[in-house]
Amino acid sequence: MAVRSIKNCFDPVLRKQCEVVKNIDGELVALSEDMIETTLAAPGIGLAANQIGIPWRIFVVNLGVETEKDNLITLINPEITAMEGSELGEEGCLSIPDVVAKVKRATQIELKAVDLNGKDVRYEASGLLARALQHEMDHLNGILFWDSLGKIKRDILKRKFKKKIKEQSE
Ligand SMILES: [Zn+2]
Repeated sequence: MAVRSIKNCFDPVLRKQCEVVKNIDGELVALSEDMIETTLAAPGIGLAANQIGIPWRIFVVNLGVETEKDNLITLINPEITAMEGSELGEEGCLSIPDVVAKVKRATQIELKAVDLNGKDVRYEASGLLARALQHEMDHLNGILFWDSLGKIKRDILKRKFKKKIKEQSE
């Protein structure tokens, strides 16, 4: 297992419509283990494979996000099957560190996916977990959380983030 480096939001891989996973093999299990380790190290609530440069439909999320206990799971080819309610809430992204903004999300969702054993799984989620799942789903479709903000607001955040990257590289 290894901590992988996380791509930032200006990397084109973050804009990819990710590919459906066809085979659950050793390579995928190893990828999932690295993704979990990378999420814990960041630390973050979830991570999509394209955030470490792999444009496949797979993400990890911490089911224990609202408790003290970490419980990271891997979801393959996930699909949101129902959404209800709407709520503004603060959100950030490991690919845009230190930038947060209020994003509107459904308050309750249902999701289906395949787990690492190839078994169909279903989850119902609300609150912060529902938000995290919607955020990770967006990554698989090349969407970043600030896309839903107005252009002016997004440009301010982009400039702030670009400045930060520049400072760090000097
Ligand atoms: Zn993200």
